[in-house]
Amino acid sequence: MKICKSCGYVGEDIDRKRGDSGTELLLWLFFIFPGFLYSLWRRGGQRRACPKCGHDEMVPLDSPIGKKIVEENHISLPVNGETGRKTGLSLIQIILIVIGAIIIFAAINGSK
Ligand SMILES: [Zn+2]
Repeated sequence: MKICKSCGYVGEDIDRKRGDSGTELLLWLFFIFPGFLYSLWRRGGQRRACPKCGHDEMVPLDSPIGKKIVEENHISLPVNGETGRKTGLSLIQIILIVIGAIIIFAAINGSK
């Protein structure tokens, strides 16, 4: 997980290439060699950038700089997927326990 130094976005940075994929595709379709060169040029300018504001200085969240940004801007960190899934599982477990309890109670009442 990373944090953007510019806008405080928390998440993963994305690949940002220069040029555009439409031009690249056209060059590949009509002129194989220029297409290849254009692709090389684009890869050469590739950098990691913030998906929100396009700033290219995203720092790891657990780095000293990342922690400082979080503290200074009072950024509430998003709950990660694993915690969410655990909550979902425990809810299902509770429902199963309740259903199980109802069945047990019904069986006890029925046997009397
Ligand atoms: Zn940003």
